[in-house]
Amino acid sequence: MSNSPETGNQRRKEVVVCGGGVIGVCTAYFLAKNGAIVTVIEQSSIACAASGKAGGFLALDWCDGGPVSSLARASFNLHRSLSDELDGASSYGYRPLTTLSVSIDESQSGPSGRAKDVPSWIDGPVKEWKPIGTAQTTAQVHPQLFTRCLMTTAVENYGAKVVIGKVEKVGFTAGDDGGRVESVVLEDGRVIKADSVVLAVGPWSSKLGIVSSLFRVYGLKAHSIVLEPKDPDAITPHALFLSYYSAQGGKPMDPEVYPRPTGEVYICGMSTTEEVPDDPEQVVPNLESIRVLKQVARNVSTHLEGEAQVKAEQACFLPCTDDGNPVIGELPGMKGCFVATGHSCWGILNGPATGAALAELIMDGQASIVDLRSFCPARFVAPSRR
Ligand SMILES: Cc1cc2nc3c(=O)[nH]c(=O)nc-3n(C[C@H](O)[C@H](O)[C@H](O)COP(=O)(O)OP(=O)(O)OC[C@H]3O[C@@H](n4cnc5c(N)ncnc54)[C@H](O)[C@@H]3O)c2cc1C
Repeated sequence: MSNSPETGNQRRKEVVVCGGGVIGVCTAYFLAKNGAIVTVIEQSSIACAASGKAGGFLALDWCDGGPVSSLARASFNLHRSLSDELDGASSYGYRPLTTLSVSIDESQSGPSGRAKDVPSWIDGPVKEWKPIGTAQTTAQVHPQLFTRCLMTTAVENYGAKVVIGKVEKVGFTAGDDGGRVESVVLEDGRVIKADSVVLAVGPWSSKLGIVSSLFRVYGLKAHSIVLEPKDPDAITPHALFLSYYSAQGGKPMDPEVYPRPTGEVYICGMSTTEEVPDDPEQVVPNLESIRVLKQVARNVSTHLEGEAQVKAEQACFLPCTDDGNPVIGELPGMKGCFVATGHSCWGILNGPATGAALAELIMDGQASIVDLRSFCPARFVAPSRR
């Protein structure tokens, strides 16, 4: 990618990134590092939504065989090199970890029926378990610390700016072909000039008319709790993907459990399709979903019951598209206006490669780190309108 700070007559590109989640921040980081003048506009605070409340689990090859495979592989490796560059282990809890599939059956209580050789802190009614990821293929970050660390580095090292405000619309120059981006207009009337604009507002994308006129992004609400066990040293770095059979019967649930190097244990699951409220601060968890997650915690480990302090009970929205794949690229007929959204349950994993590829596309006209063609927004548009 061209590193083009102000040299001679060359004017640096001014790029406005809308949305301070992991996708917007990763894009801002790579743009600023590569010489653009970057402003991030965020309506609330950096990583206030899913990017701050996610699990932060990363997998090298779990998307293999699908359209996201090359994005995920490139991003998994970028997470490792970013961690080397930014001391991720101490600044945002990056660490490789082993991942297990664990089947828990509430009705099978008592140690007699317990599967053998499972890590000792998983002392609930385990029916069966098996490894599904190694320290070479799975890892984790604390997503809020990761996103905020990248933003701080972009500001302190590469001159990026953060503006708190709500994006209302994108301004274009007049032109027969729909014109070219020239500004972003905020709800309070502020106008910020731009050569290029990146719309990275996650599940809020469809609230911007410029996006909803082309394709739909909807929100899937998911819940999580963060526990602080009394004896964190007893808990080993194993991520757990559960098949959880309730004593009441019904289909098994699939919550996930992520011990963190901070000593916390994060547990998520319980999703529903709900309308995304305008303000991320208005996203509140459903009490019944939180109750179930606490019950899951108790049945996974005695370390996660009673004595464990509940640090957070929260909910957030996955940004989803109708074909299940992210949308990354220039909007058809709107020169200089780019979008990056729809990362569903893999946005923390895929943030770095999305940001690096989009930064290349904006600065150099094409992305080399990942082929973005299968994520092109034009796929939702009839050929005659492209
Ligand atoms: C419970 C849960 C667990 C998850 N676990 C994982 C995991 O383990 N691994 C993984 O890879 N992914 C995980 N994900 C998915 C991941 O969190 C998301 O894919 C990712 O955070 C999406 O990032 P984003 O930047 O697109 O959106 P968001 O994080 O939603 O950020 C969008 C930002 O845009 C801002 N915004 C919106 N509208 C405007 C506006 N008009 N003006 C200005 N700002 C605006 C919002 O305030 C918000 O800060 C999980 C998600 C959930 C819900």
